[in-house]
Amino acid sequence: MSENWNKRTNAVHGGTRRSQYGEVSEAIFMTQGFVYDSAEAAEARFIESGDDEFIYARYGNPTVRMFEERIALLEGAEDGFATASGMAAVSGALTAMLKAGDHVVSSRALFGSCLYILEEVLTRYGVEVTFVDGTDLTQWEAALRPDTRAVFFESVSNPTLEVIDIRAVSALAHKVGATVVVDNVFATPVFSTAIEQGADVVVYSATKHIDGQGRALGGIILGTKEFIRKTVEPYMKHTGGSMSPFTAWVMLKGLETLSLRVNAQADNALKVIEAVRDHPALARALYPGHPSHPQHNLSMGQMEKGGTVLSLDLKGGQPAAFTFLNTLQVAVISNNLGDAKSIVTHPATTTHQRLSEEQRAELGITPGLVRLSMGIEDAADLIADVTAGLDAAL
Ligand SMILES: *Cc1c(COP(=O)(O)O)cnc(C)c1O
Repeated sequence: MSENWNKRTNAVHGGTRRSQYGEVSEAIFMTQGFVYDSAEAAEARFIESGDDEFIYARYGNPTVRMFEERIALLEGAEDGFATASGMAAVSGALTAMLKAGDHVVSSRALFGSCLYILEEVLTRYGVEVTFVDGTDLTQWEAALRPDTRAVFFESVSNPTLEVIDIRAVSALAHKVGATVVVDNVFATPVFSTAIEQGADVVVYSATKHIDGQGRALGGIILGTKEFIRKTVEPYMKHTGGSMSPFTAWVMLKGLETLSLRVNAQADNALKVIEAVRDHPALARALYPGHPSHPQHNLSMGQMEKGGTVLSLDLKGGQPAAFTFLNTLQVAVISNNLGDAKSIVTHPATTTHQRLSEEQRAELGITPGLVRLSMGIEDAADLIADVTAGLDAAL
């Protein structure tokens, strides 16, 4: 295992811990507990655990530790704590560090459950939250205060694919000493350089690209060793949102092929947007990796590729969007993303249904907007599928 290896090598070998059997594929240590050689050894381990010493799976487990180390190497973070879901990572990262009286500034364009944490949960415990338009640096600057403890945003917003300037927002936040927490799902650990650009903490839903095959829920909080082991670990291990060893094994295997999959998905996204963007059924076609995206230069400056998701806004509103969804044969209708299978979603009636019409309008989630998570299928089949859907929606 080497920090000098490149990402693709670390994604395959990073963090591997072999048992005495020398297994090639990582072992699943499906155990919640660990046996001590003596009472004295148990006492000693509770005082201080060595690198290969575990106490209880809620605190840590060898398979989970392999996943944490592998993804930390991939992201360029010092350390990570694996969680039961992406939301356990988002809520854990924030709740672990905040207390009553703290101030948080957050981008408004958030995944529904993230919005719930910031709007409903943190405020209930006396944390003050100010929402800003994440793409407007003057709003960040105006909202940040000397007592701002944390800044939170999705680096690419769901589903309108607005890109937040990680470098600029981090620089502003660091001036007041705030910790920058980035939900980086759409960038993926393969395309991201968020930590290099100033993010202090990066969270992922591993459910998305890291599993990438629709099997398991999981998440990860990445940051400095100090933040992960002194702030996050005590909170997570006592509140119970830790990842199961079996899930960690699924995610480890996912990391091995992550680069191959997301590169193929991003290439498909670019080919599809190129092929359909002038279609007469469309009012807007959004993909950060295409030069037509209003923040294309910013996107390419902070991600290696434009990601795996594109959004299309149909002129015919919801009826046209529903016809589009119902016509697609390759892409399936679901609400996950990052999967090897292409997935199509109508955010206004599903993932963002909870919002009021005004909130949706403010975020650009129009009735005609559809989100397409591109899979690894053949590009020609995807282009034919999306074109047929748009033709039917005319
Ligand atoms: C899916 C998602 C989450 C939540 O992840 P789960 O694994 O479903 O809990 C958080 N943030 C973003 C941006 C997501 O897309």
